[in-house]
Amino acid sequence: MSESGAPRVLDDAVWEEVVEATRGMAAPCFQCGVCTAVCPWGLVQAEPVSVRRLVRLAQLGVERWGEAIWRCTTCGACEALCPRGVPVSEVLLALRQLAWKRRSVPKGLSTMLWAVHWDGNPWDQPPSARTAWSRGLDVPAFTGEQEILLYVGCTATYDRRSQKVARSLARLLGASGVSFGVLPDEPCCGEAVRVVGQEGYLAEVVEATSRRFRDAGVRRLVALSPHCFDMFRTRYPFDGEIEVLHSTELLARLVDEGRLGFAKNVAATVTYHDPCYLGRRHGLYDPPRRLLAAIPGVTVVEMSSSREDALCCGGGGGRMWLETEAGERFGDLRVRQAEEAGAEVLATSCPFCVLCLEDSAKGLDGRLRVLDLSELACQALGEGRGDS
Ligand code: SF4
Ligand code: SF4
Repeated sequence: MSESGAPRVLDDAVWEEVVEATRGMAAPCFQCGVCTAVCPWGLVQAEPVSVRRLVRLAQLGVERWGEAIWRCTTCGACEALCPRGVPVSEVLLALRQLAWKRRSVPKGLSTMLWAVHWDGNPWDQPPSARTAWSRGLDVPAFTGEQEILLYVGCTATYDRRSQKVARSLARLLGASGVSFGVLPDEPCCGEAVRVVGQEGYLAEVVEATSRRFRDAGVRRLVALSPHCFDMFRTRYPFDGEIEVLHSTELLARLVDEGRLGFAKNVAATVTYHDPCYLGRRHGLYDPPRRLLAAIPGVTVVEMSSSREDALCCGGGGGRMWLETEAGERFGDLRVRQAEEAGAEVLATSCPFCVLCLEDSAKGLDGRLRVLDLSELACQALGEGRGDS
């Protein structure tokens, strides 16, 4: 029966199509509703997304999911608690694949995909400006001889605010003496393609990017963004040929080894926002906190929800390319939590998180500063070494 009480007619062809797309991932669901209860949309909407119902529709092969499938930020909060281990966000991404077939896709996503196709980035920016972020810094091109390929990622390459994070990270690596380089024609990792449900095109992007890395002789790659990091660590066929690290893992390691030290006091009360793609997706809660603890003068406070329970910033799952109405932004809740914790600085380690949280913090009259951990650490390097 449908929710209106009328009999629901099941269509075998649609059912087969849905089961094929979702690869049976929804089958173990027993409809407990935990996913709906923990989904952050429930905090910002009077009638929140019923995740349980979307999974049920996927089980039944009934095509009545509408625009709700595009809300998922792939934060993983539901998956962490689902008693049947249903990869809920993967189910929803599979439904997005079908939505493309039906041409039932939110405005803006086709443009984003064409930008990846023509310009190699989802921000519709010219490939010729790939290295503009590093102007004035000594950032060498990767030759295959250096220890590390610094993978900047499309957002930190082109977005003006995020470029400051890339510059800070490059300065930290320089200060530590690590030999690193960047690819002047850095290819897109394809995360934006994946999360909007374009599996077929994603395979092409992965193939091309893997080939570029192989040709360049990459053996160790450090990604600035947790989204690129997740792609390379879990969705690329590197088979151990390339070691993949997130920048906070490398920086914490360099601090531990005594290769990176901080001379300047940064007197501030700081709280750390765990990006979903570092924390819940990869269990990387400690390296960012070790880095934070190494910065002299910093007092660390935790928010009411942190680590496994961290609230999503709202920017994942392709939401950076979709409009989120005022009053429905998770970031507004997160900056309030940071304020309640007594923080002056809300630090994080993801370009999407910085952009979403900073946007929300603007409503607080500048009382809370949002910084990437690299920026904060860079301030502690000593006079003249912080980025602006
Ligand atoms: S938490 Fe898991 S088992 Fe429970 S309704 Fe959601 S998907 Fe189904
Ligand atoms: S992954 Fe996050 S946003 Fe998506 S359905 Fe689960 S809890 Fe909601």
